Amino acid sequence: MAQTVKGVVAKAVGEPVTIENIVIPDPGPGEAVVAIQACGVCHTDLHYREGGINDEFPFLLGHEASGIVESVGDGVTEVEAGDFVILNWRAVCGNCRACNKGTPHLCFSTFNAEQKMTLEDGTELSPALGIGAFAEKTLVAAGQCTKVDPSASPAAAGLLGCGVMAGIGAAINTGGVSRGDTVAVFGCGGVGDAAIAGAKLAGASTIVAVDIDDQKLEWAKGFGATHTVNSTNEDAVEKIQEYTNGFGADVCIDAIGLPHVYKQCFEARDLAGTVVLVGVPTPEMEITLPFQEVFGRGGALKSSWYGDCLPSRDFPMLIDLYQQGRLDLDGFVSETISLEDVEEAFHKMERGEVLRSVVEI
Ligand SMILES: [Zn+2]
Ligand SMILES: [Zn+2]
Repeated sequence: MAQTVKGVVAKAVGEPVTIENIVIPDPGPGEAVVAIQACGVCHTDLHYREGGINDEFPFLLGHEASGIVESVGDGVTEVEAGDFVILNWRAVCGNCRACNKGTPHLCFSTFNAEQKMTLEDGTELSPALGIGAFAEKTLVAAGQCTKVDPSASPAAAGLLGCGVMAGIGAAINTGGVSRGDTVAVFGCGGVGDAAIAGAKLAGASTIVAVDIDDQKLEWAKGFGATHTVNSTNEDAVEKIQEYTNGFGADVCIDAIGLPHVYKQCFEARDLAGTVVLVGVPTPEMEITLPFQEVFGRGGALKSSWYGDCLPSRDFPMLIDLYQQGRLDLDGFVSETISLEDVEEAFHKMERGEVLRSVVEI
């Protein structure tokens, strides 16, 4: 029997979100219904509301979530009712050219639930990133459910579903940060601070945090930054060179996605170093780089989608490290709120007042 639950919906560009009754069908083959326990407020939710992703309104927002599997459809073997899971937006197909090459974290054919959730009048909803978790329950593909240690805090665990995983993965998976490396991270919001936490976890010796907001630089220190640079009054490239014996950092991570920031990453990098872009640019942006230096400096310019994570490999491992006190996921939870507070949380995020507001249900 289909069931009706409360959820946060964006109906039109720029209009405040509203709480609506959402009709959740029973899970079909390969699908699962998950009772949401916590869901973080991510910039991507706001981008959906602003029409920046596509125009398939109405959207059921929310995608950084954890919860308990309530029921599964035919043929589902990977999870069962009662499992504590983090939802992911990379359910790998196992059969595309990336999967066949043994690189499933790059899967080109990820999938979501086939059935649609709807409003009570039958209007089909577009769930954010195929998840839609600012709701009491949601319908996803079973492959989007990654089982982890159920003793973890739901609010902290859910953050691995998007922004925090993107940041940690940008450092460890994409950037390949290792013991003794020097790292610079530009932008100290949730993703950038997660990159700092990831660099620390991997054993980086020097971690330089760059931002234009002193409060954010304070947060960055809490996650492991050894040096901070406020780039409104200091030259970030010069300071990074100064903190790395004049050489530049082995890995420079752009967690903002602006051309001038990317260029600073390029210039602040040591010879044969790596630039990682994890911030998301917009369509009109272009970059110009001195081509001879692209060659001459060697190394790699890489982009990091979802931290190049493989949820089944990375989520349980990072939850274990969190449970052992080696990864401070709780530090990303600035406040816990209810479904009614999502609109206000968007404004706090825009004003840079929070790392993450997390809806608890
Ligand atoms: Zn695939
Ligand atoms: Zn997100």
